[in-house]
Amino acid sequence: MTITYDPNHPMYLDEADTRHELERVYDLCHGCRLCFKFCPSFPTLFSYIDVHDDQDAGKMTPAQQDHVIDECFQCKLCYINCPYTPNQHEWALDFPRLMLRADAMRRENGQMSVRNKVTTAVMGRTDAIGKVATSMGVVTNLVMGAKPGSVVRKIVEKTAGISSVRMLPPFARSRFSTWFKNRPKTTMLNRQGKVALFPTCLVEYQDPAIGQDLIKVYERNGVECSLAGEAACCGAPFLHSGDVDTFTKVAKKNVKMLADEVRAGNEIVVPQPTCGYVLKKDYLDYVGGADATLVAENTYDAAEYLIRLHKTEGKSLDLNFTGEIPETITYHTHHVTYVLKTLGSRAAT
Ligand code: SF4
Ligand code: SF4
Repeated sequence: MTITYDPNHPMYLDEADTRHELERVYDLCHGCRLCFKFCPSFPTLFSYIDVHDDQDAGKMTPAQQDHVIDECFQCKLCYINCPYTPNQHEWALDFPRLMLRADAMRRENGQMSVRNKVTTAVMGRTDAIGKVATSMGVVTNLVMGAKPGSVVRKIVEKTAGISSVRMLPPFARSRFSTWFKNRPKTTMLNRQGKVALFPTCLVEYQDPAIGQDLIKVYERNGVECSLAGEAACCGAPFLHSGDVDTFTKVAKKNVKMLADEVRAGNEIVVPQPTCGYVLKKDYLDYVGGADATLVAENTYDAAEYLIRLHKTEGKSLDLNFTGEIPETITYHTHHVTYVLKTLGSRAAT
């Protein structure tokens, strides 16, 4: 059994080795149980072990192991919560990255169903889908906006494997980049920074209002904004489905484009935490090299960039908010925390 999260390690895709590692980690998690509330993966895992009198994780079948893997959606919360991560403990436990390894191993060893592969190949092409869907939004939203559990959604479930009860984000009538290119030019009096926005598929095709608000806030604070190349997906749908080859192809192209943006004097800002994490961490692991490091070191989550502006001597964030100000807000922060925790682990080794 090899404890590794390095996709280039010779044992990374070995089936027996990966399944032994799953057994080791499932056993540790079953004893710990701290993450029971984060997602379905952990309750499923505990239920498969609890049925045995001796609570032996080694008695889980491959199908049961796979059920736990399939329920992980890579939110990384368990990593943040875990006191046994590689930089903290000799158990060197990184649950989400083990799920990535297991998915890649299953794909490599012919254990992914044809439907699963076809769904990834089609649904993973979010740019192609987004371009078509935003140009015929009314039609696509008849499907995306169909009531969960409806006949339309059941047909989509049967064909594409997307749960009929899952809420799906509708497509926008117009893309974010179209709004960006057509908006009136702004005059910047006190320039404090220069960023290239990597809009992400969600903002580009489904929720452009997030990007529009981001631009307004940044420009109000003297941050010059441009678009990072042509709108492109970060590749996460492929990585999270075990298709490492396609992910790496997408990642290499993006790394080159983003590194050029940094060399042109821009910092990279990402409005979607999962995609920001992919740029900062996964490109380092799967592409590596000087350009990937340059991108990782100059990429920020949208709010992370503003907080840095606020804290940098000689720069300032306009805090004269008007209108109704909520007492509390929900801030999805754990991908940044995950990166910091992981980079901390690298610095320590
Ligand atoms: S990363 Fe996966 S296993 Fe961990 S909490 Fe998120 S969904 Fe659950
Ligand atoms: S991931 Fe870590 S904290 Fe979570 S259940 Fe497993 S051992 Fe416990």
